[in-house]
Amino acid sequence: MDATPARKLIIAVDGPAGAGKSTIASRLARKLGYVNLESGAMYRALALKAIEWDVSFDDAAALRKLAENSRIVLEPTIGGNRVLLDGKDVSSRIRERDVTEAASRVSVHPPVREWMVARQQEMGKDGGVVMEGRDIGTKVFPHADLKIFLDADPVVREQRRLDQQKIKGPSAESMAAELRERDHRDRTRATSPLVSAPDAIVIDSTQLSEDEVLKQIDALVREKMATA
Ligand code: C5P
Repeated sequence: MDATPARKLIIAVDGPAGAGKSTIASRLARKLGYVNLESGAMYRALALKAIEWDVSFDDAAALRKLAENSRIVLEPTIGGNRVLLDGKDVSSRIRERDVTEAASRVSVHPPVREWMVARQQEMGKDGGVVMEGRDIGTKVFPHADLKIFLDADPVVREQRRLDQQKIKGPSAESMAAELRERDHRDRTRATSPLVSAPDAIVIDSTQLSEDEVLKQIDALVREKMATA
């Protein structure tokens, strides 16, 4: 990817957990010299704050207020996004199980989503970004230059997550059940459910390696750059 395009693209990568979005988005961004913005990390940071401040995951108004009074910063680094919540590095903490579950619950509320979407639009407006999430191609950047919807068979997604987190034995089943539940919540929520945008290119990564997925997306990016 050596050609320098006149305009920096906005690339949206959406899909369910375990489809490989994060790795692909970060590798793609690195390859292009773009910024990788992980929108899920923002929902996770807010969820962490709700845990710390004892705000109910069901109280939409209180969560919105909490968001307005929070400083959530995504700091892209070579090794991935650093996430700062009110100045504190919470990059590891937000990946823990309780925060993962809470993020999926706080993200269902329209006032919370509205706030998040506005921040995300601001962060990506100048282009040169690979933004990943659930609603990037449908809500955050409906006019993104390239929209990828990365999917995979649910059993494969569960296994990838377990391998990633090195989980075996009895906790593997409960972890897989949690992933299925989060998935269901993301796909069925009333506001901005996880769906592929009509103009997204769907890539099913069930039988593909990371390199193969990246190669396919790379070809699509080149095509876009040639006409941008
Ligand atoms: O992508 P990640 O698993 O980190 O996202 C955590 C949670 O945040 C998801 O389960 C989903 O409920 C929510 N999310 C969302 N919209 C996004 C990104 C994440 O609702 N754009």
